[in-house]
Amino acid sequence: MTTATKSTPAVSMLKQYIGGKWVDGSSSREIISTNPADSRQILAKLKGADKNDVLKAIDAAQKAFPAWKATTPPARGRILMKAALLLRERKEELARLMTREQGKILPEALGEMEKGITLIEWFAGEGLRLGGITQPSELSKNLLYTLRQPLGVVSIITPWNFPFAIPAWKIAPALISGNCVIFKPASLVPAMAVELVRIFEEAGLPAGVLNLVLGAGSAMGDILVEEPRIKAVSFTGSNEIGKRVHTIGGARGIKVTCEMGGKNPAVVWDDADLELALGGVMKGAFGSTGQRCTATSRLILHEAIAEKFLKMLLVETAKIKVGDGLDKTVTMGPAVDESQLKTDLEYIEIGKKEGAKLLCGGKRLTAGGFAHGWFVEPTIFDSVDPKSRLWQEEVFGPVLAVARVSHFEKAVALANDSPFGLTCAFYSQDLTLAMRFTEEVEAGMVHLNSPTIGGEAQVPFGGVKGSGVGEREMAKEGMHFFTEQKTVFLDYTGRRRASNLY
Ligand code: NAD
Repeated sequence: MTTATKSTPAVSMLKQYIGGKWVDGSSSREIISTNPADSRQILAKLKGADKNDVLKAIDAAQKAFPAWKATTPPARGRILMKAALLLRERKEELARLMTREQGKILPEALGEMEKGITLIEWFAGEGLRLGGITQPSELSKNLLYTLRQPLGVVSIITPWNFPFAIPAWKIAPALISGNCVIFKPASLVPAMAVELVRIFEEAGLPAGVLNLVLGAGSAMGDILVEEPRIKAVSFTGSNEIGKRVHTIGGARGIKVTCEMGGKNPAVVWDDADLELALGGVMKGAFGSTGQRCTATSRLILHEAIAEKFLKMLLVETAKIKVGDGLDKTVTMGPAVDESQLKTDLEYIEIGKKEGAKLLCGGKRLTAGGFAHGWFVEPTIFDSVDPKSRLWQEEVFGPVLAVARVSHFEKAVALANDSPFGLTCAFYSQDLTLAMRFTEEVEAGMVHLNSPTIGGEAQVPFGGVKGSGVGEREMAKEGMHFFTEQKTVFLDYTGRRRASNLY
């Protein structure tokens, strides 16, 4: 248990970044960023953007597009690489800001910084590889090849849970491909967004290429998708908003990718290395306070090891120290805000009412140093009915639902009995079962003997079913989303030209 810091840091007055200038938003609504570990601490304030600001940002982006498109991909890559270097220099400081603004513990914030920087580096390198393919033609002296060209002005809409890595994994491929960006981060994390944009500015990104609009989604969300000059939308967030974005963008016939919620299962089989599985389940369920789209929120145990594994899990969960993420001894931070805390507590009540067996946790922490933060205990429910809301719905908090099975087919059926399909884990020494699981599970990502969380720059990231629609993110796929392919048929026989002369 920790006491939240009482010293009051200076409040940053933030601005929008439109056409290379830092300006106030036009909305009368003020956005206030506070520390979830101590909501008395105000980190930043700003005047929110409204539709008019978005339109100005689109004007600026449209104006900047021809020159940015004409900038060679290697030259664009050098600006991205400079941004990555500047980020490396400021990694520690930005991680601390992330902990204060979003609440995740410092080692997790440092991990997110490292991941985001690596993603920018990877896409910077793609500036030297951004190309199409050549193929042999059916016709002699004909060259068949493809080009990849930018789309134009694109909207990037991001959630609060990864305030650096998610913007990085969308903005970097959009920029390297030659697009101009309107970046709309979640209003809970404006300070991190401003720092990221400042770094791109310092790295030499021309005015108008990257624009930042900060404020409530309700005040400007639709215009970011509806405006005729917006050529694509890359969204990560809830299913509710994602479906709306997809519907509006789909009706316009533009490219839309939506990465949405998850309810990710981890299966621990009777032959699993239980210590390994324990570490993975703990990280997956309670890392980042369960506020990851890839969090382990369903645990499916083979009944032969269920009792033993749950005992181990309870011992380990009791060791979690909840508190302010800047305290080195703390291992789980607060919920991001009051609303997410309420959601966590509501689902805990739902679980109890549905007859699930509460094994540990279940309460808000309010005593002493917890008084002004959004702290909840890590919570585990056993005997959860797979038809129940607790099993089916995303909580987005440190709440783990457990069910037991006796045979493999049932484990796969339970894993797949979900509207979501982002990621999953299977712990077993049996290669045949692991491969069957990989083939039969409905998920965009499969972890064998590793936690449900994580992704790497060079491989695609994303989900199926309710977890994702559109192109995968990261890797080549992330860049493909932000480009159109053009197929070129080049006939160099010269005969037709010669024959045309007569
Ligand atoms: P959210 O949907 O509330 O908000 C996401 C973004 O959309 C924010 O920037 C918000 O301001 C904006 N927005 C709000 N209304 C809008 C509108 N009408 N039009 C356009 N944009 C609008 O999500 P959140 O609470 O910030 O994030 C949590 C959710 O994100 C969880 O469901 C989580 O699973 C999901 N998530 C998914 C992934 C993934 O890769 N699959 C990664 C991280 C988070």
